Amino acid sequence: MGLIEEIQRRRTFAIISHPDAGKTTLTEKLLLFGGAIHVAGAVKSNKIKKTATSDFMEIEKQRGISVATSVMGFEYKDHKVNILDTPGHQDFAEDTFRTLTAVDSVIIVVDAAKGVEAQTRKLMEVCRMRKTPVMVFINKMDRPSKDAFDLLDEIEEELKIKVRPLSWPIGNGPTFQGVYNIFESNLNLFEASKQTVQESIAFSDVNNPELEGYIGESASELLREEIELVEGVYPDFDINEYLKGDLAPVFFGSALNNFGVNELLNCFITIAPTPQPSSTIQRDINPDENKFTGFVFKIHANMDPNHRNRIAFVKICSGKFERNKNYHHVRQGKNFKFSSPTAFMAEKKSIIDEAFPGDIVGLPDSGNFIIGDTITEGEKINFKGLPSFSPELFRYIENADPMKSKQLAKGIDQLMDEGVAQLFTSQFNGRKIIGTVGALQFEVIEHRLNNEYNAKCRYEPINLYKACWVRSKNTAQLEDFKRRKNQYMAKDKQGRDVFLADSAYMLQLAQQNFEDIEFHFTSEF
Ligand code: GDP
Repeated sequence: MGLIEEIQRRRTFAIISHPDAGKTTLTEKLLLFGGAIHVAGAVKSNKIKKTATSDFMEIEKQRGISVATSVMGFEYKDHKVNILDTPGHQDFAEDTFRTLTAVDSVIIVVDAAKGVEAQTRKLMEVCRMRKTPVMVFINKMDRPSKDAFDLLDEIEEELKIKVRPLSWPIGNGPTFQGVYNIFESNLNLFEASKQTVQESIAFSDVNNPELEGYIGESASELLREEIELVEGVYPDFDINEYLKGDLAPVFFGSALNNFGVNELLNCFITIAPTPQPSSTIQRDINPDENKFTGFVFKIHANMDPNHRNRIAFVKICSGKFERNKNYHHVRQGKNFKFSSPTAFMAEKKSIIDEAFPGDIVGLPDSGNFIIGDTITEGEKINFKGLPSFSPELFRYIENADPMKSKQLAKGIDQLMDEGVAQLFTSQFNGRKIIGTVGALQFEVIEHRLNNEYNAKCRYEPINLYKACWVRSKNTAQLEDFKRRKNQYMAKDKQGRDVFLADSAYMLQLAQQNFEDIEFHFTSEF
């Protein structure tokens, strides 16, 4: 197969949702379909469950929060599907954001009883910003649910995107009988806990009197009315609107009961975008360019604490990636060869010889990579879109074991490269300050320093409102600013100037008084 064919058959996406809406369950069911040929029995499907719930880190097991963002690839109907898992917990929103830079589309899971929830709203903002095409799966229809039209209105309003139902529920909760698949014109009858693919019944017209035989008279009547309303209210599904990120097709189902998942997947591989061009500071990169390019969107500490090696997750943006070929690490200006790149398939992690745009490869790394690094065949380009955000939570970090100061320094250094948090060094007192977007990160850092680096840290409170990067063409004003705000100035890991404002008021005042200074709230500017 040539490069173009390999690109055409790839679909790389993430599933996002508010915790508990059913993301993990849906992921597992999709994997089940992906491996459907091999996995018939319950034993195997249990195994899949294990892979689906990413458990790289002990901390995650303890807390039951999916901290790690892992990758699951599978083959389905001649397509190569790559699911990038995202942590649902809001404290890891930054991790999720970075993962969203590596996907071409997104499936949003919404709980049919709860509707749109806070975390979904936030993540959708990122999709809107990036114009990522999204599909919606309304889950848990086997439970008493909100009215389907109300749910669609809610999605439209809260997620600020036009919607188009491509399936329609017949009842909900105790009266749930199944869905009418508008996209494929067929009827799917619900059976709880059925783990195999349901036979769908071809039904090009809901007005066909045979419908009553399947779902009864009153449900048929209601379905006909509602489908008529759907066709009246919503314009025909326009795939281009979806691909532009302006319209979300909506499916209904129950992931737990493996219901509606197959239709979702079939529609997904038909309409979801193939690997898309990516932007670098220098130029746009098309996936079908012959030369390989890719970027690191995630770094994962290895599970084995005795070996300090890590895995850098690289999204392939163009060309073919090959094992043992010399590639250029743009930031370091050095060449590297990778003898054991891994791919993540549903069942296992395995060494691969080649990978294509849309794929994610894991490169074993002993500390050469940081988030955002670009790898090429020699061209000096830098992929964009992986900023760090202004942290809002801060603590001084101190060494709690004087015998282990080297380990602590190394641990902090590597955790920051992984993007767990950001490190600032106060220019006033030289102390190290950790800044995060979520409170959990502090515990993660403490735990991992201890577990992986055998180092102990202690935190001390510091009262700050926000950190922002400052820059100015007016060097005199910048110097003046730095002198006056001496107490509040710090350097980030790259040595850039950071202003640590202790209140919103102070920040506002600074912005007013120093007109020539740019205050940046993401690290990419
Ligand atoms: P996540 O936090 O979004 O990954 O959600 P999970 O997949 O872990 O699901 C949260 C809970 O909802 C679990 O107890 C699931 O068994 C349950 N669940 C998931 N899908 C369904 C569904 O279709 N129907 C019902 N009744 N429960 C579901």
